[in-house]
Order: sequence, then structure tokens, then C-alpha cells
Amino acid sequence: MRHLINILDLSVDEIDKLIDVADDIMANPDKYNEVCRHKILATLFYEPSTRTRLSFESAMMSLGGNVLGFSEATSSSASKGETVADTIEMVSGYADIIAMRHPKEGAPIVAAMHSTVSVINAGDGGHYHPTQTLTDLMTIRHEKGRFDNLTIGLCGDLKFGRTVHSLIGAMARYEGVRFVLISPEALRLPGFVKHEYITSKGISYEESESLEEVIGKLDILYMTRIQRERFVSEDEYLALKDSCILTAEKMKSAKPDMIVMHPLPRVNEIEVAVDSDQRACYFKQAHYGRYVRMALIMKLLGLIENDVPYTPAEDKKPIVYGVYTCRNPRCITSIEHELPQAFKLADKENSIYRCVYCETRQNR
Ligand SMILES: [Zn+2]
Repeated sequence: MRHLINILDLSVDEIDKLIDVADDIMANPDKYNEVCRHKILATLFYEPSTRTRLSFESAMMSLGGNVLGFSEATSSSASKGETVADTIEMVSGYADIIAMRHPKEGAPIVAAMHSTVSVINAGDGGHYHPTQTLTDLMTIRHEKGRFDNLTIGLCGDLKFGRTVHSLIGAMARYEGVRFVLISPEALRLPGFVKHEYITSKGISYEESESLEEVIGKLDILYMTRIQRERFVSEDEYLALKDSCILTAEKMKSAKPDMIVMHPLPRVNEIEVAVDSDQRACYFKQAHYGRYVRMALIMKLLGLIENDVPYTPAEDKKPIVYGVYTCRNPRCITSIEHELPQAFKLADKENSIYRCVYCETRQNR
């Protein structure tokens, strides 16, 4: 049973194939409007995210399928204390595929362990949001025509921005990619993300606190929100945020074919005047998202003809049960106490273990 929890669950060949299918759906929508007839997608949204839920529901309906589900914990069994595992055992009997969003990190992994149908992670706390990354990748291939030999600037909250971490992980797999990390000191990319995806692979990168200084080098500028609540004082926030705001003035220094992306919704990190610039792609991005989700649903239901064969990477690291306790307050184990505490060795030298659900690292 194939699930999509993390974008890296898909090989680069599978991503290419998915985007090929999404392109074909975009060009010939009528060809696909019955392919999921009599199939049911369950959208289990333990926290509301109207944008994401509608994009999945629209995708399934456009394929001729049906949708059922809930949004918000208050309307579901979660408020009565039912575990994710129990809910999934039940829903697996009602639906052919599940898209799940949950405020706790690792909840979709628990779902995948108990599901008899494919589970798509539609966002788990600050952890992963792979269909956003698929949308980003489709935008890049469409607008730039390739994934390799690109200089990608990521600007804003690189510390907490999960879409940024996933995009770096996905793009680091292509030749000649270079990253420019633009953020205030306090919101820099976490060291372990930098190590895992960039430095350990010998990929070139630079860090900057000023968008203005580096914008001229970029092929892609990926903007993210800076959330006010991340800062101690209002003054600190105001001082830092200006360095990471994209203005029409700054766009004058950018390459004529640079593209601007943003996972949306934006707050004020992109000036409205930039919207009319031909290089602004963030509204198109949402449009691509629908087609790539359609392709993904087809893939997981086994409906893509001649799909790329999948060979799972062999993971020989044993799981250690009951020795460590996850200290991440956002981990699914923090609310579901009956889940076994399970860890895998992440770094032998420093004896660092990683929670199998939320992937938080900890050492003895
Ligand atoms: Zn955990």
C-alpha cells in the first residue's frame, strides 16, 4: 500500500511522471472526468484548512469521484477521544483513499500504519505538506522548463516554514541546484535541515539577510510568510520584516526570467504592486495544485497507465521501542499516550535518535 507522507517518498522519476499526467489532465480534462467513478476520497481534517480541503475535493470531483469527510475536531470523533488509529480503521472501510490533515506531527504516519487504503498527508502541524511541494515542483517545471541548474532563493521564515524545508529536500535531488537562504538571523534554516539536505550532499549555498543584495542572482524566488508571533517584540518584528519584503522596486534588480513563488496565503511580504509583474507566479501555483492533486489521486489508486515502477529504499535501521520518550509537544504521541514510543538511529556518532512519528531528534 502506497502512501504520501513526505515528498521524498516519491522518486524523481515518479515526480516527473506525475507532472506529465497533470499536464495531460490540464490539456485534456474530458479524458479524465470519469476515471474515478465510484471511488471515494475521505478528507479527514482534524484542523480546518479550507484552501487545502477544497483543492482535494475539487480534484476528486473533477475525476468523477465522490468525497466524504469532516473538518475541525469538534465535528468529528476526535473530540470524543477516539484515536487516529481507530478512526482510520473505520474510514478505511468507507473510502478508497484518504487525505488527512492533523495539528499533531506524525499523525498521518499513524494513519498509514492502520489504513488499508492509501493515505495522503495534507499537512501535519509544522512537519510536512507534500502536496504543497508537488504543486511547487509542477510550477517550477512549467515556468522554468527544468529542475536542474537553477539558483533558488528562499526568503522569509526559513526556521519554521515547513514548505521551505520540503522544497529544499525535493530540489536538492537535481543536478546543479544552488540555494540562497534569505532570512533574518532569528529565522535561519535550522542546522539539521541544512546538514541533511544541503551540506552533506555538497550542494552550494549562501545565506543573506538582505533580499535586495541577492535578488539579481536568482532564477526562482520562493517567498514565505513571517509570522508576527515568532518575535519577542513588535520593534524586532518591524526591523526584521523589511529586509524580507518583496517590492516592485526590488523586482527591478531581478533577472527578466526569474519567477516569484509563494505558498499563499500571503500577508504583506509581497507588495500588491508585484502581482501584475509577469514574473509573479503565485496565483498560477494554486491552479497547478489542482491538477497535480488529480494526478496524485490517480497514482495512488493505481489508475496511471505505465506508471513508473517503485522500488522502496531499503531501511535497515531497527526501530527501538520504549527506550526513549519523544519530547516534542507537537508530536502525535503527546496526545495519544497509548502509541508505542518508537525511535530510529539518526546519527550513530553522536548517538542521536529520531522519533518515527514526528522525526524530532534527541540524544540520550
Ligand atoms: Zn515524536
